[in-house]
Amino acid sequence: MAYYNNDTIIYHNGSLVKATDTKIDLYSQTMHYGLGVFEGIRSYKMANGDTQIFKAFEHYERLERSARALNLPYHWTTEELIQATYDVLEKNNLRDAYVRPLIYCPANMSFNLNNESYITIEAWEMAPFLGEKLLCIMTSSFQRPNPKGFKIEAKACGHYVNSILASQEAKANGYDEAMLLDMNGYVAEGPGANIFIEKDGVLITAPAGNILPGITRATIFELCDELGISYEERFFTAEEMKNADSAFYCGTAAEVIGVQSVDETTFPLAWNNTRGSVVQKAYKNLVTESIVTTLVEA
Ligand code: PMP
Repeated sequence: MAYYNNDTIIYHNGSLVKATDTKIDLYSQTMHYGLGVFEGIRSYKMANGDTQIFKAFEHYERLERSARALNLPYHWTTEELIQATYDVLEKNNLRDAYVRPLIYCPANMSFNLNNESYITIEAWEMAPFLGEKLLCIMTSSFQRPNPKGFKIEAKACGHYVNSILASQEAKANGYDEAMLLDMNGYVAEGPGANIFIEKDGVLITAPAGNILPGITRATIFELCDELGISYEERFFTAEEMKNADSAFYCGTAAEVIGVQSVDETTFPLAWNNTRGSVVQKAYKNLVTESIVTTLVEA
């Protein structure tokens, strides 16, 4: 996929510049050791024709928390970065887009602290996601990183080595995506998404602690409150997941996407009859800010 062309404009350390004119230092600590943080944000063409960045504030606040968790100097305000993002979208004439801010380190081959950090904000077109296809997922042989070894709640570059290994393993085995357990054997999350299961009309998702607690996951809690859907944050095993009525993955890029099967187990409830599909529709409406649907009894 072509993320940019000769005309693409990015935000780079305070300026809007051509993507093809920018360089990254090959001696950057980020290149060698994975010490950097990033965000994954969506903008949408709204029902009224405007372009809106979904949960922009929450994403840039998390970017700052991630940077501080990794001891990266951070001298930007959320407001200036939101404005810079709208500028990038406008300059590239983007509406339904994926936005990728990245904080990276200067040249530094030691493990010492840096005095400076750099930022880029890149964006590319993202076709509206239809969410019709259901995922066949595989229990990964890779666990999520142990929070005693990593700042797991930070969206850190290096953590994604684990995500890539798990995702590539699942695809090599003929599945759509991986499902990773935490270091205690409980269901944690996907390589780039959180996981909910549904049992007897209640949605269940892993608590914060061993996962990246997503902004989509938090949005789903809000939607459940509005829709009168019960949910719990608690640990559950892969066995419990396989005995659930249905499941879904959720994240900024994936939005809400139903799961058909885990390993050889197919969920019994047809996706259209699940709480997940109600949440999926409500989420789709919310991101383009039309009216949230009401719960139709499944
Ligand atoms: N977990 C991981 C590992 C992720 O990469 C993502 C995507 N950022 C999520 C969960 C979902 O987070 P969000 O809803 O904030 O996109």
